[in-house]
Amino acid sequence: MTTAAVDRPSVVWLRDDLRLADNPALDQAVRRGAPVVIVYLLDEVSRGIRPLGGATKWWLHHSLTALRADTESLGGSLVLRRGDAATEIARLVTETDAAAIYWNRRYGAAREVDAALKSSLRDTGLEVQSFRANLLFEPWTVTTQEGWPYRVFSQFWKSCLELGVDREPLAAPQSIQSFATRSDTLEEWELLPARPDWAGGLREHCAPGEASARDRLEDFTLDVLEDYDRRDEPGFQATSGLSPHLRFGEISPLQVWHRLHGVLGSAARDKSAKYLRELGWREFNWNILYHFPALHEKNFRAAFDHFPWEESVPEWEIDAWRQGRTGVPLVDAGMRELWVTGTMHNRVRMVAASFLVKNLLVDWRVGERWFWDALVDADEANNPANWQWVAGSGADAAPFFRVFNPLLQQQKFDPQARYIRRWVPEFDGPDYPHPIVDLASSRRDALKAYDTMKSRAASAPESAAVADSL
Ligand SMILES: Cc1cc2nc3c(=O)[nH]c(=O)nc-3n(C[C@H](O)[C@H](O)[C@H](O)COP(=O)(O)OP(=O)(O)OC[C@H]3O[C@@H](n4cnc5c(N)ncnc54)[C@H](O)[C@@H]3O)c2cc1C
Repeated sequence: MTTAAVDRPSVVWLRDDLRLADNPALDQAVRRGAPVVIVYLLDEVSRGIRPLGGATKWWLHHSLTALRADTESLGGSLVLRRGDAATEIARLVTETDAAAIYWNRRYGAAREVDAALKSSLRDTGLEVQSFRANLLFEPWTVTTQEGWPYRVFSQFWKSCLELGVDREPLAAPQSIQSFATRSDTLEEWELLPARPDWAGGLREHCAPGEASARDRLEDFTLDVLEDYDRRDEPGFQATSGLSPHLRFGEISPLQVWHRLHGVLGSAARDKSAKYLRELGWREFNWNILYHFPALHEKNFRAAFDHFPWEESVPEWEIDAWRQGRTGVPLVDAGMRELWVTGTMHNRVRMVAASFLVKNLLVDWRVGERWFWDALVDADEANNPANWQWVAGSGADAAPFFRVFNPLLQQQKFDPQARYIRRWVPEFDGPDYPHPIVDLASSRRDALKAYDTMKSRAASAPESAAVADSL
């Protein structure tokens, strides 16, 4: 005897949307009325997947732990599976005799996996639906009048603001009908570092999970937003710290958008607009990734394929950068903050990245990979897009010739050295090393290298397209 379709379960396939509120896929499954199989699949093998780095694995473990508890408190359960999506999702659907599957869209190269799965599952008669949940605007809806993707942020964001957001955030379900099926345990995935356990700093500084994300948004809106003008000062708490929560979808950009619009009187409107503009950069970078999925491997501007990166930089210099021992206080403070907390202040990220790329002339991809491993908010759009922004090779990037001077940046944004003292207490003592490179002469070398790139690019066989990308 076959079960009536209405009693057969729905599968909700979670990815970077580890939340119960404002989760359209989950909402749809609960509305359908049948039991719900909520699955998180650890997929490190499908085409287009970039396996997580160490810090994001740590975050994922704790985020799933929180989500499991939250789901169970509503009567549901969280199923964990591992493997390639095409096989494992199809297997789960068969095992549970599901009648429907829902997921929230992703925008990197792995979206092709989703498209293939959608059509093969539909061929078997399953109801399959995907939703927008992790961006405010679908990349294909924000285009120039000619239908091209924007390459300039200000125009992109203007166009987004004209479109406006189209719905209110969805409430979390009040209850979830559980469906019993086999699940891996989180422990068997070994996402946490064991030998050595380097995650002590993360445990101290990070609080993964939807409830923490909500609290942080609340605290930020009520207590911190008014100081957002000071967001460039690393020694002062003026930013939201929401990036890892947004990274894992513990909170949605729509929830953030509405919360900020909800509380504001006219005095705070400017600050909120400024903040939302930063969320706009997040949207812009995902938009770029959607159109250019090789963002962490290839220069967005082809001219940079001709850049003469210094290939003989000794490994100890790159290690000094990674470990915060360059002798440049702001860079060292940032790199140590990253190592301990899994995050780094945005201004300092720019300075530390610029030092690697422009003063040491190391290919931006080397730094991007380090951040990918060390940042708890590392994602496949914002990390490479920001590295390419610093390197000058990205869309709407900082021009290469604008080389940050870390000492001037320190004077401007950390004049009392509050931030530096916190991470590099020995910075003004006799034991603190001299800079590993001379800032003035390495800046000149960087500008020479840039000129070399331009003349090589101009004489390259594909020079018209390359010149266009400058
Ligand atoms: C070299 C480099 C690498 C970076 N890698 C990442 C990354 O992997 N993941 C990531 O989320 N951000 C990345 N950023 C951007 C930025 O540094 C962080 O988003 C920010 O520091 C997060 O802190 P916050 O949440 O307190 O920011 P807030 O100032 O509170 O900003 C609010 C939100 O806006 C978004 N946002 C802010 N600045 C940017 C930006 N420049 N680009 C894109 N989104 C932004 C984030 O989602 C952030 O949570 C990188 C920046 C640089 C220079």
